[in-house]
Amino acid sequence: MTELARVFDPDELDDDDGPRGRLAVDVPAPWLAEGATVEIVVPAVLACARCEGGGCDGCARSGGLRLTGDAAARTLQLTLPRGASDAVRLQLRLARPLGDDAGLDQLLIEPRSAGAPSPFCRRIEGAAPAGVIATRTYVIGAAVVGLLAIVAALLGAR
Ligand SMILES: [Zn+2]
Repeated sequence: MTELARVFDPDELDDDDGPRGRLAVDVPAPWLAEGATVEIVVPAVLACARCEGGGCDGCARSGGLRLTGDAAARTLQLTLPRGASDAVRLQLRLARPLGDDAGLDQLLIEPRSAGAPSPFCRRIEGAAPAGVIATRTYVIGAAVVGLLAIVAALLGAR
Protein backbone atom coordinates (compact mmCIF):
# COMPACT_ATOMS: atom_id res chain seq x y z
CA MET A 1 0.00 0.00 0.00
CA THR A 2 1.29 3.44 -0.84
CA GLU A 3 1.76 6.20 1.71
CA LEU A 4 -1.02 8.23 0.11
CA ALA A 5 -3.54 5.40 0.28
CA ARG A 6 -2.74 4.93 3.94
CA VAL A 7 -3.41 8.58 4.64
CA PHE A 8 -6.69 8.44 2.78
CA ASP A 9 -8.16 5.65 4.88
CA PRO A 10 -9.70 7.26 7.99
CA ASP A 11 -10.58 3.92 9.54
CA GLU A 12 -7.00 2.84 9.41
CA LEU A 13 -5.90 6.09 11.03
CA ASP A 14 -8.48 5.58 13.77
CA ASP A 15 -7.29 2.04 14.36
CA ASP A 16 -3.62 2.97 14.46
CA ASP A 17 -2.64 2.61 18.10
CA GLY A 18 0.79 4.24 17.79
CA PRO A 19 1.84 7.51 19.40
CA ARG A 20 -0.55 10.33 18.55
CA GLY A 21 0.27 13.91 19.51
CA ARG A 22 -1.75 17.09 19.60
CA LEU A 23 -0.49 20.59 18.87
CA ALA A 24 -2.43 23.86 18.96
CA VAL A 25 -0.90 26.45 16.64
CA ASP A 26 -1.70 30.16 16.81
CA VAL A 27 -1.83 31.80 13.38
CA PRO A 28 -2.93 35.32 12.37
CA ALA A 29 -6.39 35.37 10.81
CA PRO A 30 -5.13 36.48 7.36
CA TRP A 31 -2.98 33.35 7.14
CA LEU A 32 -6.10 31.24 7.51
CA ALA A 33 -8.08 33.33 5.06
CA GLU A 34 -5.33 33.13 2.44
CA GLY A 35 -4.37 29.51 2.97
CA ALA A 36 -0.79 30.37 3.85
CA THR A 37 2.03 27.86 3.76
CA VAL A 38 3.73 27.66 7.15
CA GLU A 39 6.75 25.99 8.63
CA ILE A 40 6.29 24.46 12.06
CA VAL A 41 9.04 23.27 14.35
CA VAL A 42 7.16 20.64 16.30
CA PRO A 43 8.00 20.95 20.02
CA ALA A 44 10.05 18.09 21.43
CA VAL A 45 7.32 17.38 23.96
CA LEU A 46 3.72 17.02 22.81
CA ALA A 47 0.47 16.33 24.62
CA CYS A 48 -0.85 12.83 23.99
CA ALA A 49 -3.94 13.14 21.80
CA ARG A 50 -5.41 9.87 23.03
CA CYS A 51 -5.70 10.43 26.75
CA GLU A 52 -5.28 14.21 27.10
CA GLY A 53 -2.62 13.66 29.74
CA GLY A 54 -4.25 10.87 31.71
CA GLY A 55 -1.83 8.19 30.52
CA CYS A 56 -2.52 5.39 28.05
CA ASP A 57 -0.81 2.71 25.99
CA GLY A 58 -0.03 5.23 23.23
CA CYS A 59 2.16 7.35 25.49
CA ALA A 60 3.52 4.67 27.82
CA ARG A 61 1.28 6.05 30.63
CA SER A 62 3.13 9.35 30.69
CA GLY A 63 0.39 11.58 29.24
CA GLY A 64 2.86 13.12 26.82
CA LEU A 65 5.09 12.26 23.91
CA ARG A 66 8.79 13.04 23.72
CA LEU A 67 10.05 13.23 20.16
CA THR A 68 13.48 12.18 19.01
CA GLY A 69 15.53 14.39 16.74
CA ASP A 70 16.75 17.97 16.70
CA ALA A 71 14.79 21.01 15.59
CA ALA A 72 15.58 20.39 11.92
CA ALA A 73 14.26 16.84 12.16
CA ARG A 74 11.11 18.11 13.83
CA THR A 75 10.36 20.70 11.17
CA LEU A 76 7.45 20.28 8.79
CA GLN A 77 5.69 22.46 6.27
CA LEU A 78 2.03 22.53 5.54
CA THR A 79 -0.47 24.65 3.69
CA LEU A 80 -3.40 25.82 5.75
CA PRO A 81 -6.85 25.23 4.30
CA ARG A 82 -7.78 28.39 2.44
CA GLY A 83 -10.76 30.31 3.72
CA ALA A 84 -10.88 28.77 7.19
CA SER A 85 -12.41 31.09 9.74
CA ASP A 86 -12.75 31.35 13.49
CA ALA A 87 -16.18 29.77 13.26
CA VAL A 88 -14.84 26.33 12.39
CA ARG A 89 -12.58 24.48 14.78
CA LEU A 90 -9.99 23.03 12.49
CA GLN A 91 -8.10 19.87 13.17
CA LEU A 92 -5.57 18.65 10.63
CA ARG A 93 -4.52 15.06 11.02
CA LEU A 94 -1.06 14.27 9.67
CA ALA A 95 0.20 10.72 9.32
CA ARG A 96 3.87 10.27 10.23
CA PRO A 97 4.60 13.94 9.47
CA LEU A 98 8.23 13.65 10.61
CA GLY A 99 9.04 10.33 8.97
CA ASP A 100 8.79 6.77 10.17
CA ASP A 101 11.40 6.98 12.94
CA ALA A 102 10.37 10.11 14.82
CA GLY A 103 8.27 8.32 17.42
CA LEU A 104 5.10 9.97 16.17
CA ASP A 105 2.50 8.06 14.15
CA GLN A 106 -0.01 10.86 13.93
CA LEU A 107 -0.01 14.56 14.69
CA LEU A 108 -3.25 16.47 15.21
CA ILE A 109 -2.64 20.12 14.41
CA GLU A 110 -5.24 22.60 15.56
CA PRO A 111 -4.77 25.98 13.89
CA ARG A 112 -6.50 28.82 15.69
CA SER A 113 -6.77 32.47 14.89
CA ALA A 114 -4.63 34.72 17.08
CA GLY A 115 -2.99 38.13 17.02
CA ALA A 116 0.48 36.68 16.62
CA PRO A 117 1.73 33.29 15.44
CA SER A 118 3.08 30.71 17.85
CA PRO A 119 6.87 31.10 18.26
CA PHE A 120 7.46 27.75 16.58
CA CYS A 121 5.39 28.66 13.51
CA ARG A 122 6.37 31.01 10.70
CA ARG A 123 4.97 31.76 7.30
CA ILE A 124 6.99 30.79 4.25
CA GLU A 125 6.46 31.88 0.69
CA GLY A 126 5.87 29.72 -2.32
CA ALA A 127 5.98 25.99 -2.73
CA ALA A 128 7.92 23.62 -0.52
CA PRO A 129 11.44 22.72 -1.69
CA ALA A 130 11.96 19.54 -3.64
CA GLY A 131 12.68 16.24 -1.95
CA VAL A 132 11.29 14.57 1.11
CA ILE A 133 9.59 17.68 2.42
CA ALA A 134 7.69 18.19 -0.82
CA THR A 135 6.40 14.63 -0.68
CA ARG A 136 5.22 15.10 2.86
CA THR A 137 3.56 18.36 1.95
CA TYR A 138 1.66 16.61 -0.80
CA VAL A 139 0.47 13.88 1.52
CA ILE A 140 -0.49 16.46 4.12
CA GLY A 141 -2.47 18.39 1.53
CA ALA A 142 -4.42 15.29 0.63
CA ALA A 143 -5.22 14.65 4.27
CA VAL A 144 -6.40 18.22 4.71
CA VAL A 145 -8.80 17.88 1.79
CA GLY A 146 -10.26 14.77 3.39
CA LEU A 147 -10.66 16.49 6.72
CA LEU A 148 -12.36 19.48 5.17
CA ALA A 149 -14.86 17.11 3.63
CA ILE A 150 -15.49 15.66 7.08
CA VAL A 151 -15.91 19.12 8.56
CA ALA A 152 -18.36 20.05 5.80
CA ALA A 153 -20.33 16.88 6.39
CA LEU A 154 -20.54 17.55 10.11
CA LEU A 155 -21.72 21.09 9.54
CA GLY A 156 -24.32 19.87 7.09
CA ALA A 157 -25.64 17.37 9.59
CA ARG A 158 -26.62 20.03 12.08
ZN1 LIG B 1 -1.77 8.91 26.34
